[in-house]
Amino acid sequence: MRIITTIKEMQHEAKTMIREGKTIGFVPTMGYLHEGHMSLVQKAREKNDCVIMSVFVNPLQFGPDEDFDRYPRDLKRDELLARKAGVDVLFYPHVDEMYPKELTTMLTVNKRVDTLCGESRPGHFDGVATVVMKLFQIVLPDKAYFGMKDAQQVAVIKGLVDDYNLPVEIIPCPIIREEDGLAKSSRNVYLTPSEREESTLLSQSLNAARKVIRDGERDPGLIIELVQSYLKQTSGTIDYVEVLSYPELQPVNRINEEVIIAVAVQFSAARLIDNTMALRSEKAIGV
Ligand code: AMP
Repeated sequence: MRIITTIKEMQHEAKTMIREGKTIGFVPTMGYLHEGHMSLVQKAREKNDCVIMSVFVNPLQFGPDEDFDRYPRDLKRDELLARKAGVDVLFYPHVDEMYPKELTTMLTVNKRVDTLCGESRPGHFDGVATVVMKLFQIVLPDKAYFGMKDAQQVAVIKGLVDDYNLPVEIIPCPIIREEDGLAKSSRNVYLTPSEREESTLLSQSLNAARKVIRDGERDPGLIIELVQSYLKQTSGTIDYVEVLSYPELQPVNRINEEVIIAVAVQFSAARLIDNTMALRSEKAIGV
């Protein structure tokens, strides 16, 4: 596995791969890798000749009061895990390499961001869209792999790719969970032992919601109440519980087609998000 830290070298390497007729699968991450990230690598390996993973904690997508400085970082560990998973190139640029000067152009996401994390993290998805656009120009991937753990991110990136006719296929991948149901996340290390126990209520609430929808419930209001009844048992603060169309992320009056049920709970030092799809795309997305 090669580790590349400069844009010039990364672009050169990607162009060489393309010239050699190889396809590139790309897995963008912020590092502190876990099985969720690894599942994306595995999918990328199945369908591409080369796998490029980026590890970059992108300051543009963190608000002033968010955890950019204390976001967990451990390159040595990431390096080992990436190598073991079969990554060919680990792209690990410094912030000054990605943003040597103030950007002349910044992307603004207009749709799919007035709800969920977009509502509670203003500007977050502008930062995500901007860095993903930049990374795509550097890595030149055929396919890019994103986890449905961040379902709103997938919706936003799909919009970006459609809007600008980017020649990359976005592959959404299912959420990888701990045995007790907690969605794997780099931020889980910030949960206290008691919060860690309570955190299983997120996935339990979503499973309960899926079950009642499967059994015929069609009222989103009742689903939201059901999910809230679980989350209220935690010591955290509920940030949101929503039932929305996907990927448009619009409120629905009745659950007649595929919907996403998405939650966010703020614990003392970690904000957890989770979601599930109900009805049609349950099968399509494999969750
Ligand atoms: P992050 O490093 O948190 O920015 O995540 C990098 C990529 O891994 C994103 O596409 C995430 O959606 C994905 N990811 C993170 N956690 C999981 C998980 N538990 N299951 C599947 N994908 C995940």
